[in-house]
Amino acid sequence: MPRNDCIFCKIASGQIGAMKVLEDDACLAFMDIGPLAAGHLLLIPKTHAETLDELSADQAAAMLRHLPSLVAAVRRATGCEGVNVLQNNGRVAHQVVMHVHFHIIPRRSGDEFYFNWPAGKYPPGQAEELLSKIKAQLR
Ligand code: AMP
Ligand code: ZN
Repeated sequence: MPRNDCIFCKIASGQIGAMKVLEDDACLAFMDIGPLAAGHLLLIPKTHAETLDELSADQAAAMLRHLPSLVAAVRRATGCEGVNVLQNNGRVAHQVVMHVHFHIIPRRSGDEFYFNWPAGKYPPGQAEELLSKIKAQLR
């Protein structure tokens, strides 16, 4: 169901305009209005869901089938050297618009977009414990 207070639902329904790259029954890709790099796109499902885990596998698949061709088109159009596909879930994960979206961000060496990637190490036994917990929660 579309949500009245959701800007991406409004874009999906045509109430608000966007620079559309691709559209079908399930999803829409459009230019990000605040690009991290020229050619930054967003891919959204037309169905309202706040976070990725609220989508069914079929809803996710219907949207994600377009990712490879969108990434390829952005690469060819911008001549970028690489692409980040990012997807934020929850405010703590930097989600500002609470409707699922994938960022497709062209990258060039020397651009101004940095990750803090504080890779750690598991203490003995913790990885195995988490592995079995996560596997037990798969549905
Ligand atoms: P996030 O932090 O993952 O929630 O990112 C939300 C993204 O949506 C930001 O990159 C915004 O620039 C973008 N955005 C917000 N409103 C619009 C809009 N009306 N049209 C296009 N992009 C938008
Ligand atoms: Zn929405």
